[in-house]
Amino acid sequence: MKLITNRPEFYNDICEEIRLFLPRAEITMEGGEEDGSLSLMLSTGEYFDASAVYRCDEGEYSYTHRTPYRGGSEVIERRYAKRCMKAACFRAMRKAFPKKLIPWGSLTGIRPTRLLRELISTEGYEEAKRLMLEEFDVSYDKFLLAERIDRIQRPVIESARPDEFGVYIGVPFCRTRCLYCSFASQIRTKKTDMAAYLEALHRDIELGSAMAEAHGLKARSFYMGGGTPTILTERELDELLDKICACYDTRGREFTVEAGRPDTITEEKLRVMKAHGVSRVSVNPQTFCDRTLRLVGRDHTSADIEACYELVRRIGFDSVNMDLIAGLPGEDETAFGASLRAAEALSPECLTVHTLAIKRASRLHEHLDEYDLPSVESVERMVDMGHETAERMGMEPYYMYRQKYMAGNLENVGYSKSGSICIYNIDMMEDGMSILAHGAGAMTKRVFEGGGRIERVPNPKDIDTYIRKIEQTNAEREELFSL
Ligand code: SF4
Repeated sequence: MKLITNRPEFYNDICEEIRLFLPRAEITMEGGEEDGSLSLMLSTGEYFDASAVYRCDEGEYSYTHRTPYRGGSEVIERRYAKRCMKAACFRAMRKAFPKKLIPWGSLTGIRPTRLLRELISTEGYEEAKRLMLEEFDVSYDKFLLAERIDRIQRPVIESARPDEFGVYIGVPFCRTRCLYCSFASQIRTKKTDMAAYLEALHRDIELGSAMAEAHGLKARSFYMGGGTPTILTERELDELLDKICACYDTRGREFTVEAGRPDTITEEKLRVMKAHGVSRVSVNPQTFCDRTLRLVGRDHTSADIEACYELVRRIGFDSVNMDLIAGLPGEDETAFGASLRAAEALSPECLTVHTLAIKRASRLHEHLDEYDLPSVESVERMVDMGHETAERMGMEPYYMYRQKYMAGNLENVGYSKSGSICIYNIDMMEDGMSILAHGAGAMTKRVFEGGGRIERVPNPKDIDTYIRKIEQTNAEREELFSL
């Protein structure tokens, strides 16, 4: 479809809004209007007035949204202009698709909990609530969810000191590629030069930790993710953890390792992790249905997951997370309910319920027509079932994020038993503090002014480029932390 607007700088934001209703729409600012069009104009004065007209085969739908213009910096002006245009676009298209389930309303791109926290601090609770419900069209249930998570996160966010940061270590290799994966993760084969990658990663950690020390910064949490970090051999993992512990003060700090896929976990690797002070382990089934596990390309069974979980407990880990995905191909509410019951029986401290996102870089997106995906309504019920199960397990939702192309425009929610929340997840998702990231594709970010400004330095995704540019990337990181 064609987008006609006098504020082309918001093209991407407007496209996200359109795709809430038309997920696979090709949107262009050139060409004709034969496949439909959206005209979206903003005028400014005492008010922002955004007028949207959506034209399609069925007719013409329009809406004008007005927001008071309070003045302020260029950044604030831009923020209000964008919100006003998104609201007008959302409501015009809402008229054309009145039955479409869009529980987070016009919110795209921003984390709902972060927005709510900002609104409460600038506008007060009542106005924040009104804005979420009436300006952004968020459903009441989702508002309550965001509010509940905000209450749990607040003490963690407020306890962050300006000289603290989180450390991420990435191992972007896996055994097989999951159907829905869009990460720049590689399959580890006999030809993989893991020694070269690990040598660079060790150097990256040395340089980054020295830079942090020089700036008087202290790590408050550690997170090793991927990929699948446990793809490393016992010896490689031992040496990597030795390096991390030698470069950073990890004592008494939260330290999570994504043990991810059970087919990569051994007793010896878990003992190595335990000996280095790893305090939290993620064992991620995604589903307990063997048929689905095969379908999505995970080379293990549900029995492997259960055996792995028992092993993790036997080695003495008392903080375990499990990830499940609602909306996997071929699954319905009965299948998802069985996975939830299996997770409940194992009784981890944390449960993360993801909603399937069909990312453009995934095999699933490429072959979408070959898969039987559950309806949006069904996925929504699965998400609710996840919530009910977590409550039964004595958990509370403690962090949440949304991604593009998620089924039903829903959310991913992390639940936790009391005292087991992952600080890194909150700091990372809510931009509560800076993150120093090591490894190919990892993103270092510096958070200024309590999250008011964020600057990033990405590590190259391509492994060879990452290895070659270690010193250069570190120099950019140095510059970022010298600002
Ligand atoms: S385990 Fe994660 S990173 Fe690896 S292929 Fe699957 S989704 Fe991608």
